[in-house]
Formats: sequence, structure tokens, C-alpha cells
Amino acid sequence: MSDNKHKIVIVGGGAGGIELATRLGSKLGRKGLAEIILLDATTTHIWKPLLHEVAAGTVDESEQVDYLGQAYRNQFRFRLGKMEGLDREKKEIYVSPTFSDSGEELIPRRTFSYDTLVMAIGSVSNSFGIKGVEKNCLFLDSTSQAFKFQKHLVESYIKSHADADKANKKPLSIAIVGGGATGVELSAELHEVTDMLAVYGFNESSNVKLTIIEAAPQLLPALPSKLALATQDQLARLNIDLKLGCRVVEVTKDAIHTMDGETIQADLKVWAAGIKAPDWVNGLDGLATNKINQLVVDETLKTNDENIFAIGDCAACPWPGHEHNVPPRAQAAHQQASALCKSIVNRLNGQPLVNYTYHDYGSLVALGKYSTVGNLMGNLMGTVTIGGFIARVVYLSLYKMHQIAIHGYYRTALLTLSNLFRRTAHAKIKMH
Ligand SMILES: Cc1cc2nc3c(=O)[nH]c(=O)nc-3n(C[C@H](O)[C@H](O)[C@H](O)COP(=O)(O)OP(=O)(O)OC[C@H]3O[C@@H](n4cnc5c(N)ncnc54)[C@H](O)[C@@H]3O)c2cc1C
Repeated sequence: MSDNKHKIVIVGGGAGGIELATRLGSKLGRKGLAEIILLDATTTHIWKPLLHEVAAGTVDESEQVDYLGQAYRNQFRFRLGKMEGLDREKKEIYVSPTFSDSGEELIPRRTFSYDTLVMAIGSVSNSFGIKGVEKNCLFLDSTSQAFKFQKHLVESYIKSHADADKANKKPLSIAIVGGGATGVELSAELHEVTDMLAVYGFNESSNVKLTIIEAAPQLLPALPSKLALATQDQLARLNIDLKLGCRVVEVTKDAIHTMDGETIQADLKVWAAGIKAPDWVNGLDGLATNKINQLVVDETLKTNDENIFAIGDCAACPWPGHEHNVPPRAQAAHQQASALCKSIVNRLNGQPLVNYTYHDYGSLVALGKYSTVGNLMGNLMGTVTIGGFIARVVYLSLYKMHQIAIHGYYRTALLTLSNLFRRTAHAKIKMH
């Protein structure tokens, strides 16, 4: 590619970034109208809402998409590396060196220049500075963390199974801090896994104790009360212990301590109590950020620099008519990728940017095999509460929409079929 082409650098190939790179590749890259570079800190993409299933072992590596292959098929370039800095005046980003597992430097520190920069780096868990959280909790921020969790989980099951005949046997205890969608979905998924392990000859599910700790008086604050209460009932029926209205003040190696003096012993502790953009983004070379480090954007997704845009969880995007910004959700990242693609094409043609409006199609929470609950928003019908099979189908369709955006209809259909066949030949959970 020649050097005088407009250079679009997208940082972060998650739910929003990979869709944007793929769309821009087919609209501009294919015709040689721009050079598109996707930079990501990892070599493969996995749709983040699958991470609780990766953590539980019910989804494996096969759902990963190789960035290099995706770039080759869709006329953009992939570069491996972690952005660490920005010079807006020089229009350059700085990328830290990449090391192998053994510590050998594979790629030195680099600089990339851009004409248009898109920040799509997602979010990380917010520990709110609570003592011991970073050191003693597991997080579900990335694929590697989800696999790490899964490994811990399998090892803990094996250990607990081996101990089961001993006189001092005690159940494996898992505590999840945060009763939002992530915490709730993870707890149901883990319960399902313990059931499956019992079928495979491991301990009974009664030998695993699951607890959700939530500061609010109710689970799932984003959903209507009726649905949240139905979810609480469902989880209680599964013997998942719900500690509501409990504020965590410290996490130690073996336990979680709450403000009212309670100590909750836990072998595995998961932190899923809110998000923030990574700390290094805060005030990045004069870009406006909010108190959770998100880049403040206007309704065109533009930051306070006309050449820099932000989408997905790292963007604080206004939601007219609402007190808060667009929520950090995969459906928002998906919509923003498509709006920004149009804007960038317009920008190259000297036309105005597109205004982005968030369409909330509702929230769905999957309780493993047990149930799916949520609400759907529609212009004609208003808000509709759904559950059961229909809710499950709608929930799965979110992922299908993402797959279609990056693979097209034909490949998505083939992938879905091959996955179905593959599942018939493998154990339903990953045990390694
Ligand atoms: C367990 C779980 C379940 C969820 N379930 C749902 C759901 O059911 N529905 C829903 O709408 N949302 C759900 N979400 C939220 C949803 O996953 C996010 O809102 C969405 O993934 C945000 O997309 P994104 O593109 O902003 O960031 P991400 O998808 O997080 O992608 C960010 C990318 O940036 C890369 N990156 C980060 N830092 C750097 C750097 N410095 N340099 C280079 N690359 C970098 C990362 O490697 C990653 O590939 C869930 C989240 C979790 C954790």
C-alpha cells in the first residue's frame, strides 16, 4: 500500500473494533481507498459476553477468531501490541514491546502514525480501590483471565473431589462479588458445570457452594424489579446464596469481608462489580475523560480531537433523554462500529459525520441451561418482558449478529453447524 493513503488506526479488536475494521476493510481497504490497521494486545478475538462461559469451561478455544486471518480476508492489516501512549500533535501512538512467555523481546517498542484514530480498547474491572481485590480476586476482563479462572476451577474441583472422602471435607466455595449480569450469568453457568461434573463422576453439586455478594438491595439493577426478583427466586432454588445489601470492604487470601462485619470464606473469589476504562487512558495527551477514565465523545463519537474517535466500553457517549451515558454493552459497541464506519467513509469524502443514537433493544440475562430472562424494547410494543425459550433465542441472536458482522451470513451458518457437530463428539465442558 502506498504511504499517501489515509491511514486509519483502530486500537482494540473487541466487540466494536473488529467489526469496525472488517466493515472499513470491505468499504475502503478492498478498493485501496485507505490503509486500515487494527492493533490489539492479543492475537485472537473472542466475543467478551462469552467469557463467563469460557471461565466455566462450557465454551472453548474454538470460538476464537484469529486477527491475522480476519485481516487477510477483509483487507485490513493486523498489528500485535499494546498501546501505551499518544502524541496528538504528531498524530502518533506508542506501542509497548511484546515479549514471549519466556521473557524474550519479540517486537520492540513501536510508533504508528495515523490520520484517523479510533480507540476501542474496552474496559477493565473496577476494584474501586478496595483492599486486597487486585491481589486475591479473579477477573473476567480478557480471554487469558477467563482461561486462568477455568484452570483454577478445574484444579479446585479435582482437589475437592480428592478430599471428598476425608473426615474434614468441606465444599468448594466460590464467591462472586457483583450481582449484575456478569455475576448472575457466571453463577448459573458454574452451577450447571457442577451438575455436569457430577454426571461425569465428580462430586455432587451439593459439594460446591456458590455465593453472590451485591451492594444493592437487589440483583440486576439494570432490569425491571419483577425480572430481578424472578432471577433471585431462580438462583435461590439452585441453592446459590445471595448476600444482598452487602458492601465489600476487603478481600484476603481466604475470605471476603463486608462492611457489617461478616466474613465470607471462599476458595475462589471473582470480582465482577463494575467497570472502568484502563487507568493509562485518564487524561491521555489532553483527551477529555470522565471519572471512570472513559474518553468523552460527542454524538458523532468524536473526542475533543477531531481526528480521534472512541467506541464501546472506553467511550463516554451521551444518551439524550437519559441521566446516564450509553451503557457499556456489546449491543452498543456493535451499533457504534456501524455508525462510525459510515462517518469515516463520509470523512474521507468530505461529507459530515453521522450522529449516533443508541437503540436499546433490551437486556437479557442467561441463567445457563435453567432459564433466560430479560426485557425487549420495541417502538411499537413498548417494553416487553420475556423469558424461557424465546429469550434464549434472542440472547443467542446477539452473538450471531456479531458473527455475521465479522464473517458474513454464509460463514456464520457454516461455523454454527460445525460447532454443533463438534459438540456432539466432545465433553460439554472443558477439563484441561
Ligand atoms: C462476562 C461478561 C458478560 C457480558 N455479557 C453481555 C451481554 O450479555 N450483553 C451485552 O450487551 N454485553 C455484555 N457484556 C459487556 C460486553 O462484553 C462489552 O460491553 C463489550 O465487549 C465492549 O466492547 P468493546 O469493543 O468496547 O471492548 P472489548 O470487547 O472488551 O474489546 C477490547 C479489545 O481491546 C484490546 N485492548 C485493550 N487494551 C489495549 C491496548 N492498550 N492496546 C491494544 N489493544 C488493547 C483487548 O485485547 C480487546 O480485544 C459482558 C461482559 C462480560 C465481561
